[in-house]
Amino acid sequence: MVPRRLSGRGAGGGAGDTYAGYRTRLVETLRAKGIRDLAVLKAFAETPRHLFVPEAVRHRAYEDVALPIGNGQTISQPSTQARHVEALRLTGRERVLEIGTGSGYQAALLGALAATVLSVERVQTLARTAQLALREAGVTNVSVLHGDGTLGWSAYAPYDAILVAAGGPEIPPPLVEQLSPGGRLLIPVGARGAQILTLVERGDAGLRRIPLGEARFVPLVGEHGFDA
Ligand code: SAH
Repeated sequence: MVPRRLSGRGAGGGAGDTYAGYRTRLVETLRAKGIRDLAVLKAFAETPRHLFVPEAVRHRAYEDVALPIGNGQTISQPSTQARHVEALRLTGRERVLEIGTGSGYQAALLGALAATVLSVERVQTLARTAQLALREAGVTNVSVLHGDGTLGWSAYAPYDAILVAAGGPEIPPPLVEQLSPGGRLLIPVGARGAQILTLVERGDAGLRRIPLGEARFVPLVGEHGFDA
């Protein structure tokens, strides 16, 4: 049976949450794959991924795999998302910008790890569905915005961390401009279908680009991204 409602944030422990055991196993998988940050593991233990995937694939919600979410998009593999949020080294006090809301699941994870999350999605139906899922999951510190995330979102800038969940040909200049001093920006950069995950740190001496390895993300489409 699929529980329709969960009692707010931290659905991991609630009575009637039939997915809690699956979630625990997912966290064990993440640990086995080298995720060490306890706050990140706790975020995965408490975030109900099944609420962010379509009914048809709900039975696979806690496998460490990417799943289709409609509109030709996917919810990324949990271990990949875990590595990405771990690289941001969040402490709970940050204002975070996410580009590519997709299902809203990673936004929920970021919400558990930071103070405030603004998440931008270019496909309106995905933005709407993600908003509903976040509400159902009891997440209150994440706002979904509809628009071209390659422009960032200047109204709420600057951001302590920016996470781009789609791969672009370059680092969009507005994202660098909207990064706080000491802030961290994570973005897959390269060709369609083959990028290098790149961490950009804004330090006293300027920008530092640190390549973190190969990545395969859906294309970042927009003014400072690929053509649609
Ligand atoms: N983090 C998501 C997965 C994102 S998939 C999750 O947890 O489910 C990448 C998303 O980026 C897709 O939904 C795609 O529509 C979106 N996207 C691509 N280019 C974009 C842009 N310029 N601005 C905002 N969103 C964009």
